[in-house]
Amino acid sequence: MTTTSIPSLHDAAVRLTPGGVHSNVRLTGPLVFFDRAAGARLWDINGNEYVDYLLGQGPNFLGHAHPVVNRVVTEALRKGMIYGAQHPLEVTAGQRFIDLLGWPDMVRLGVSGTEMVQAALRLARAVTGRERFVRFAGHYHGWLDNVLLAYDGDGAPIRASEGQLQSHVDDSSVLPWNDADALSEFLTERGGEVAAVIMEPFMCNSGAVSPRPGYLERVRELCDEHGIILIFDEVITGFRLALGGAAERFGVTPDLATYGKAMAGGYPVAALAGRGDLMERFATGVNHSGTFNASVMACAAVDAALTVLAEDPPYERIERHGRLVREGLLEVAATHDVPLRAQGIGPAFHVSFGDPAEVHDFAGLQRLDLARYNAFVPRLVEHGVWVAGRGIWYVSAAHGDAELTAVLERFDAALAAGPV
Ligand code: PMP
Repeated sequence: MTTTSIPSLHDAAVRLTPGGVHSNVRLTGPLVFFDRAAGARLWDINGNEYVDYLLGQGPNFLGHAHPVVNRVVTEALRKGMIYGAQHPLEVTAGQRFIDLLGWPDMVRLGVSGTEMVQAALRLARAVTGRERFVRFAGHYHGWLDNVLLAYDGDGAPIRASEGQLQSHVDDSSVLPWNDADALSEFLTERGGEVAAVIMEPFMCNSGAVSPRPGYLERVRELCDEHGIILIFDEVITGFRLALGGAAERFGVTPDLATYGKAMAGGYPVAALAGRGDLMERFATGVNHSGTFNASVMACAAVDAALTVLAEDPPYERIERHGRLVREGLLEVAATHDVPLRAQGIGPAFHVSFGDPAEVHDFAGLQRLDLARYNAFVPRLVEHGVWVAGRGIWYVSAAHGDAELTAVLERFDAALAAGPV
C-alpha cells in the first residue's frame, strides 16, 4: 500500500469497510490513523503526539505496549498459539486471577465483554429457572440484541439498532440505577420472574458515577431475599478501581462478575468469574464455548499483566494523578471563565461543560449539556489530548507528572483557541 495521508487512508478504508471502521463506537471519533503508542502517549501517522486519556476504551491500563507483558506473551507464543485443548498457563493465569480478586471460586476466559455478559445471563437463567433480568438505564453490557439499548425522548428504553429483535429487548426490565426503593418495589411485584440483576457497580458508560452509600448493600440484600443472581459487570471497573475491582472498592460481593479490558495489558481477553456452585454448571449442562478462549496469548497476557499489577500496584498513583488532572482542568477552565464539571474518581472520571452539579443516575446525566463538550473534543484532540466525545477520561499506570503538565497546557491552549 502506498497511501500514507490520513484522508487517502480514510478513502481506502471506507471502500473496504462500512464507515471505514470495525466497531460502530468509532464512527463518531475524530479522523486519525495511529502509527504507534507507548506508555501514556500515542503518535499518528503524521508524527503528531497525543497524551492518551482513553486507553483504547480502557484496556491499556498498564500503558501502551507494556514491555514486560509483551515479552512474556512473545516468549509464550514461540511454543504455539491455540491448541484447542488445555495447557498449563490456563491454570497459572486462572489461579492468579482468582487470587487477586479474592472472592470468586472459579473463572472462565473468553475474548470479549459482550460474550461474557451473555454467559452470565445464561447461567443465571439456568440456576434460577427464571427468564427475565433487571438492568439499569445508561449501563452498557455489549452490543447483542438482549442488552443493547437506546432511550426515547422520555427516557424510555428502545431498540438501539435496526435489525435488533424487539422480543429480545423485552427480556429485561430497565430501572433507574442508584435507587434501591425502585428496585425493591419492582421485585416485590415481579421478583419471582427475575433470574438476574446486572449492573455496572460504578457507572462508567454514562458519566462516571459512584454508587450511593449503602446502595450496593441494599441491592445485595434484595437479590438474596428474592433468590436472584447478582451480576456485577466489571468489564471496565475490574482491576481498575482496585485490584479486586468495584467489588473490593465498595465492599459488596456479587454472585457472578464479568471482566475484560484492564485484566490483560491490552490483549483481547475477557472473563466470567463467580461462586463455585454456580460456575460448575458450565460443566454439567450450561454451554459456554469459543475457539479462541484461553489461547496461549490470552493466558500469558493475563498472567503477566496481573503479575505486574500485584507486584507494583499503581492504584494510589492513579488515584492521585486522576485527582490532579480533574482539579487542574477545573482551574484552567476557570481562568477562561468556562464552567466545567469533572465528576468521578482517580481511574475514571467524566468531564462536561456547564452546571457543575453532581449526578447520580442516567436521568441526571441527560440533564447536562453533553453536546457542548462533545463539540469541543475534536479541538482538544487537535491540541494533542486523546479523549472521547462522551466525556469519559481513563488514567493508566503509565501516566506521570509529564502527562499532567502536558494535558493541562494543551487543555489551556485548546480553550484559548476559540469560544466553546
Ligand atoms: N460491559 C461493559 C460495562 C462495557 O463497558 C463493555 C464495553 N465497553 C462491555 C460490557 C462489552 O465489552 P466488549 O466491547 O469487550 O464486548
